[in-house]
Amino acid sequence: YFISFEGIDGSGKSTQARLLADHLRGTGRDVVLTREPGGSPGAEEIRALVLEGDGDRWSPETELLLFTAARRDHLERTIAPALEAGQIVICDRFADSTRLYQGLARADLRRLVDQLHSLMIGREPDLTILIDMDPATGLGRALARGSGEDRFESFGDSMQQKIRQGFLDLAQEFSARFVTVDGNRQLDAVAADIRQIAESWLP
Ligand code: C5P
Repeated sequence: YFISFEGIDGSGKSTQARLLADHLRGTGRDVVLTREPGGSPGAEEIRALVLEGDGDRWSPETELLLFTAARRDHLERTIAPALEAGQIVICDRFADSTRLYQGLARADLRRLVDQLHSLMIGREPDLTILIDMDPATGLGRALARGSGEDRFESFGDSMQQKIRQGFLDLAQEFSARFVTVDGNRQLDAVAADIRQIAESWLP
């Protein structure tokens, strides 16, 4: 069973993905917790290529190809083997992030994103948990974390707004697998909601 977490930077999805993995392991489930970009040795190398440097290091098209290459490797080496072995895969971001960050934020490439996805990935999560939250709060959290690892700071508030709305639109477009959770609350309350959703969706 394949679960992805999506949301804007600072929405708490990495923390919530980890909490859900811990919870499910505590109930005896076999869980693989992974992330994008990255999640396999090769894809982690590509992560460094796409996140380091300034925003102009790659053209929007090249960036999309790199993210797609990373996802392909992640799928081949980590996700597909785990699913075949009957494990639950929890992934912090998946193709929906590319539909927005590469498909909408930097350039209008959604058609190309979808074409590459069907050619090279062809797999969606069974359940996508969208942590929706106020972009100003999310950006504040992301900046406070101050990882300095990547280029998100250059995105600013209006881009966060656009991406938040983009995620809400994707939740409509893929309503059969999306569940939206209100992230503007205490971490524990959000985690409790997510546990309940996962328990009711898991076979
Ligand atoms: O989720 P995480 O914080 O690890 O993402 C790292 C950075 O990569 C974020 O700034 C996010 O905006 C960016 N990103 C991206 N395109 C993706 C996934 C993430 O630009 N498909």
